Amino acid sequence: MEFPIYRPRRLRKNEALRRMVRETRLSVDNLIMPLFVVPGRGVGEPVESMPGVAQLSVDRAVEECRAIHDLGIPAVIFFGIPESKDSVGSHAYSDHGVVQQALRAVKKAVPELLLITDVCLCEYTDHGHCGVIVDGDVDNDSTLDLLVKEALSHVRAGADMVAPSDMMDGRVGAIREALDEEGFDQIAIMAYAAKFSSAYYGPFREAAESAPQFGDRRSYQMDPPNGDEALREVELDIGEGADIVMVKPALPYLDVIWRVKQEFGYPTAAYNVSGEYSMIKAAARNGWIDEERVMMETLVAIRRAGADMILTYFAKDAAKVLARR
Ligand SMILES: [Zn+2]
Repeated sequence: MEFPIYRPRRLRKNEALRRMVRETRLSVDNLIMPLFVVPGRGVGEPVESMPGVAQLSVDRAVEECRAIHDLGIPAVIFFGIPESKDSVGSHAYSDHGVVQQALRAVKKAVPELLLITDVCLCEYTDHGHCGVIVDGDVDNDSTLDLLVKEALSHVRAGADMVAPSDMMDGRVGAIREALDEEGFDQIAIMAYAAKFSSAYYGPFREAAESAPQFGDRRSYQMDPPNGDEALREVELDIGEGADIVMVKPALPYLDVIWRVKQEFGYPTAAYNVSGEYSMIKAAARNGWIDEERVMMETLVAIRRAGADMILTYFAKDAAKVLARR
């Protein structure tokens, strides 16, 4: 059907019509809020490069989780910044670690909120890499043992779901096996399945104090131009027992999200990372863009690409906008 018979503008005439034919919806159910937990009490240290984001001590994280739950957001994901760091990231799998403390406190205070933990070593190692260093590079298989210990420690402290983000080969299978052996067969794994070596992580490294002290992460995170390889990574993680697969970052990899969802039809998450967040905040502060509209357009674009879940620092702001609609 061609013009003048078909006139697409007929269905754009007013908001009622636009609502009726809208194809993609963003709901508060799609949102997961990341939180950075630090030692101490009463701490709410703003992250300069991420306006609106702060590192929180456990007591403040509990308050924040109450607010997040009250906004209807179903889940949070915890990142920990330990008291001290060492070459093997010991605080990552200490039962008294900062994430473990947060899990126990939040689980008690806000039991309905789903608690996910980031399972990685880079926030806990003095060299800032995601695993054990052997001969100047991250050693895959010896790192797996530590990731397993970390995941188990999180689950014992109350995590409902673990999210390995290190990109070591075989880590999903190793964690699944260990969880099952310990009787945690109902704990789900959200795998950072296609995690690219991205410059968009810059502000996060300030927030998580996890910048590598030498080299970079290109020997384990994915090369940005590779889409077919992303599908192989996702396939591997599903084969090893991942319940949810994630693409990270989101906005520069919408095509990858689309392909992953089309190919596997699995519950798919996308991480709207710190750089994506900070660029919008910075432009808005300069008066160059309308922050709220760009935020909502960005999040709905990630949904349209196929993400069921979006990990985003905008979760609270977006939930407030959605509640008004
Ligand atoms: Zn890491």
